[in-house]
Amino acid sequence: MEPDKKQLKVVILGGSLAGLMCGIALKHAGHEVTIIEKGENVRQSHMAGVCLGLDAERFLERHDRLSNVFSHRCLRIQALKSDETVQVFINARRDITNWDAYYFRLRANFDGYKSSFYPIPPQPSATDGPSSYNARREVVDLTRTGDRGNTKLVLSVLDHDTRDVSKVEADLVVGADGPDSFIRAKYIPESKRRYVGYIAWRGTVPESEVSEATRDVFKRSVTIHLMDRHHCLVYTIPGVDGSLEKGERYLNFLWYTNETPEALDEILIDGIDGHRHHNIVPSGHVRKDIWEARLQTARSIPLPGPFLEIITKIERPFIQVITEVISPRASFEDGRVLLMGDGLSLYRPHTAFSGTQAAFHALKVEEYVEGKISAQEYEEKALRYARLHWSQSIWYGDFYQYSKWTALKSALYYWFHCGIDRVNSWWTGEERLLRGWSKVVEQYDDE
Ligand SMILES: Cc1cc2nc3c(=O)[nH]c(=O)nc-3n(C[C@H](O)[C@H](O)[C@H](O)COP(=O)(O)OP(=O)(O)OC[C@H]3O[C@@H](n4cnc5c(N)ncnc54)[C@H](O)[C@@H]3O)c2cc1C
Repeated sequence: MEPDKKQLKVVILGGSLAGLMCGIALKHAGHEVTIIEKGENVRQSHMAGVCLGLDAERFLERHDRLSNVFSHRCLRIQALKSDETVQVFINARRDITNWDAYYFRLRANFDGYKSSFYPIPPQPSATDGPSSYNARREVVDLTRTGDRGNTKLVLSVLDHDTRDVSKVEADLVVGADGPDSFIRAKYIPESKRRYVGYIAWRGTVPESEVSEATRDVFKRSVTIHLMDRHHCLVYTIPGVDGSLEKGERYLNFLWYTNETPEALDEILIDGIDGHRHHNIVPSGHVRKDIWEARLQTARSIPLPGPFLEIITKIERPFIQVITEVISPRASFEDGRVLLMGDGLSLYRPHTAFSGTQAAFHALKVEEYVEGKISAQEYEEKALRYARLHWSQSIWYGDFYQYSKWTALKSALYYWFHCGIDRVNSWWTGEERLLRGWSKVVEQYDDE
């Protein structure tokens, strides 16, 4: 990049959490930021929790201009056993919001978008750069023109309304374009997401619709139920328009089961038009007979009463296929094109870490653009962070879903990366990149 250039023209592919966080950080640093998003402004989320880990907290402290709390605080993960007794599984603080509340908050900060979540967005500051969010536009090509010192990146952008393709120039391009990233596919076509062997049956139920006894079990801690090679969990997320009021929040249910690729050919068939989905069967599209069979299994196991109550009250279930990917690179075109977020590494969901990773990347892109780190350092840090948390999510997943031996092998792989991180931090004097959850044992107010 041209270090003496004051205001860079930055184009970000993807306007979900990673793209928005990066956009906000660079806009606040005075750069001209354009986000190109192939989806709509108002998206249908997975109605699932997003955890605000350490890097998300740091990002929000630095860049969030709204002040209300938008997450539910859990202080532990508890296990509900078959006899319905509760045991502490891990003491760990987790602030959990949902994707919609997070997305609209970031939109309010990025381009002043008004939503029912945030009807009064914060005012831009005089030093902010211009920002624009272009929904229903898709990047279909990226080329580099000019010679060294006078290079431009040119993106071809397809307008989903008119079908016209226009050209957009950029000094810096950021690929925040998710697990099927266009940027990753362009530079590393062999790096593709893969099925890890299990899926999640999911859905939400408003707290107000469950019995008081069940509400009491789930009201504050993440609750898991471990079974032989499958497990389910329930946790609380904000409700309509981000409400954190008791009774208005949602209980979010997940049940992870191992499924062969052949079984997926049946499970993933759309209940309305019959086509086969790949990664998600959205709410309202799960086949009735498939869901009914799942409920039947839940009753025959049987799942503990509170879990059974939730699953039977889910009105619009959906199915998520668990996949993963990790890119071997994060910087291309001499640091003119960067990769971040789930496009760089898609974790398994057990560590609830994707939103935190996106915040880490956004803060690192900001440091890079400010000249505090080089493109190589961005890449090195982003990849080391990715391998650590990716291998951690594999270990957790293998522990829950597979044999002890498989879990041990993944634990060794994870500990190997922890060792690298520890040595690196000792050698360079820099903070470790492993972001553990707070291990301080905290009590709820009424305990
Ligand atoms: C609509 C939606 C709902 C979600 N809901 C949840 C949830 O409830 N819970 C949860 O844990 N996670 C959810 N996620 C995933 C979550 O956002 C990520 O796991 C994580 O936070 C990091 O996101 P990301 O921005 O890197 O990737 P993603 O969230 O996957 O976003 C990538 C974005 O890039 C866009 N895109 C891809 N290719 C192009 C292109 N060529 N041109 C323009 N745009 C492109 C996609 O439309 C998408 O919006 C959701 C993602 C989406 C898109």
